[in-house]
Amino acid sequence: MPIYEYACDVCGKAFEELIIRRSDEAEVACPACKGRKVSRLMSRSSSLSGGAAGGGGGGGAGPGCGPVG
Ligand SMILES: [Zn+2]
Repeated sequence: MPIYEYACDVCGKAFEELIIRRSDEAEVACPACKGRKVSRLMSRSSSLSGGAAGGGGGGGAGPGCGPVG
Protein backbone atom coordinates (compact mmCIF):
# COMPACT_ATOMS: atom_id res chain seq x y z
CA MET A 1 0.00 0.00 0.00
CA PRO A 2 1.20 3.49 -0.75
CA ILE A 3 1.88 4.55 2.78
CA TYR A 4 4.33 7.34 3.24
CA GLU A 5 6.06 8.45 6.36
CA TYR A 6 5.87 12.08 7.31
CA ALA A 7 7.34 14.25 9.97
CA CYS A 8 5.73 17.40 11.25
CA ASP A 9 7.89 20.46 10.98
CA VAL A 10 5.98 22.18 13.73
CA CYS A 11 5.94 19.68 16.58
CA GLY A 12 8.25 17.07 15.13
CA LYS A 13 5.79 14.23 15.33
CA ALA A 14 6.33 11.39 12.88
CA PHE A 15 3.33 9.70 11.36
CA GLU A 16 2.28 7.61 8.41
CA GLU A 17 -0.25 8.63 5.86
CA LEU A 18 -1.99 6.59 3.25
CA ILE A 19 -1.59 8.32 -0.07
CA ILE A 20 -3.89 7.00 -2.72
CA ARG A 21 -4.00 9.97 -5.02
CA ARG A 22 -1.54 12.67 -5.78
CA SER A 23 -3.92 15.23 -4.39
CA ASP A 24 -3.90 13.48 -1.04
CA GLU A 25 -0.38 14.64 -0.44
CA ALA A 26 -1.47 18.26 -0.43
CA GLU A 27 -3.96 17.54 2.30
CA VAL A 28 -1.60 15.76 4.64
CA ALA A 29 -1.73 17.32 8.06
CA CYS A 30 -0.12 16.49 11.35
CA PRO A 31 -2.48 14.42 13.53
CA ALA A 32 -1.09 16.03 16.65
CA CYS A 33 -1.14 19.75 15.91
CA LYS A 34 -3.07 19.72 12.63
CA GLY A 35 -0.20 21.52 11.03
CA ARG A 36 0.15 21.45 7.30
CA LYS A 37 3.85 21.96 7.40
CA VAL A 38 5.07 18.41 7.07
CA SER A 39 7.98 16.76 5.36
CA ARG A 40 7.92 13.40 3.70
CA LEU A 41 10.58 11.04 4.92
CA MET A 42 12.50 8.61 2.83
CA SER A 43 11.07 5.15 2.66
CA ARG A 44 13.26 2.70 4.44
CA SER A 45 11.45 -0.47 3.46
CA SER A 46 14.06 -1.50 0.97
CA SER A 47 17.46 -2.31 2.35
CA LEU A 48 20.45 -3.62 0.54
CA SER A 49 21.79 -6.91 1.76
CA GLY A 50 25.28 -7.22 3.04
CA GLY A 51 27.25 -4.75 5.02
CA ALA A 52 30.65 -3.87 3.68
CA ALA A 53 31.44 -1.32 6.28
CA GLY A 54 35.07 -1.70 7.12
CA GLY A 55 35.86 -0.33 10.49
CA GLY A 56 39.54 -1.20 10.44
CA GLY A 57 41.89 1.64 10.82
CA GLY A 58 43.67 3.72 13.29
CA GLY A 59 47.38 3.93 13.77
CA GLY A 60 49.34 2.46 16.58
CA ALA A 61 51.04 5.66 17.44
CA GLY A 62 50.93 6.67 21.03
CA PRO A 63 49.40 9.81 22.34
CA GLY A 64 52.79 11.42 22.26
CA CYS A 65 53.12 12.63 25.78
CA GLY A 66 56.04 14.93 26.08
CA PRO A 67 58.29 15.07 29.02
CA VAL A 68 56.47 16.59 31.85
CA GLY A 69 58.13 18.74 34.32
ZN1 LIG B 1 2.61 18.61 14.42
